[in-house]
Amino acid sequence: MEKIAVYPGSFDPVTNGHLDVLKRALKIFDKVIIAVGENPNKKYLFSLKERIDMLKKVTKGLKVEIEALNGLLVNFAKRKKAIAIVRGLRAVSDFDYEFQSALMNRKLNKNIETIFIMTRGMYCYLSASIVKEVARLGANLNGMIPKYVEKKLREKLKIKDV
Ligand code: ADP
Repeated sequence: MEKIAVYPGSFDPVTNGHLDVLKRALKIFDKVIIAVGENPNKKYLFSLKERIDMLKKVTKGLKVEIEALNGLLVNFAKRKKAIAIVRGLRAVSDFDYEFQSALMNRKLNKNIETIFIMTRGMYCYLSASIVKEVARLGANLNGMIPKYVEKKLREKLKIKDV
């Protein structure tokens, strides 16, 4: 049977850190479904459609599906016949929240395991928020995000700055 995992997140926008976790998850699972969240309490720079489009573009050739996440993550995972939820871990600061949501998800559905993939050292400082912050200040984003995403980010920030 195909081993499927769900990789949830905001991906606002997708970074090389996200892609590294994704590719490493694909060594364990046959297919990864990227579930792109739309949390009403969060402010996004890119729309849900834009975030999905960028993900589609930069994951071409990989065994992935990209979908909007609606409703409870464990229910989404069950519907997709996934056996696991994949999350990346960067620093101790990620741990508290991740621990809490993994335990909550386990309580909601004990058949779906949460698997954590530790970041590569070179990406441990990297988050979509910090990329947006330094991009606004004109930083060189080489190695942080795919070229296509960089183009979209520059376009978006130019529009926002006007
Ligand atoms: P969320 O808003 O759900 O945290 P993100 O898009 O910020 O969504 O992150 C999605 C997942 O990717 C999270 O598990 C996060 O820890 C992981 N992640 C983000 N950046 C990195 C990175 N540089 N290295 C490893 N994992 C990362």
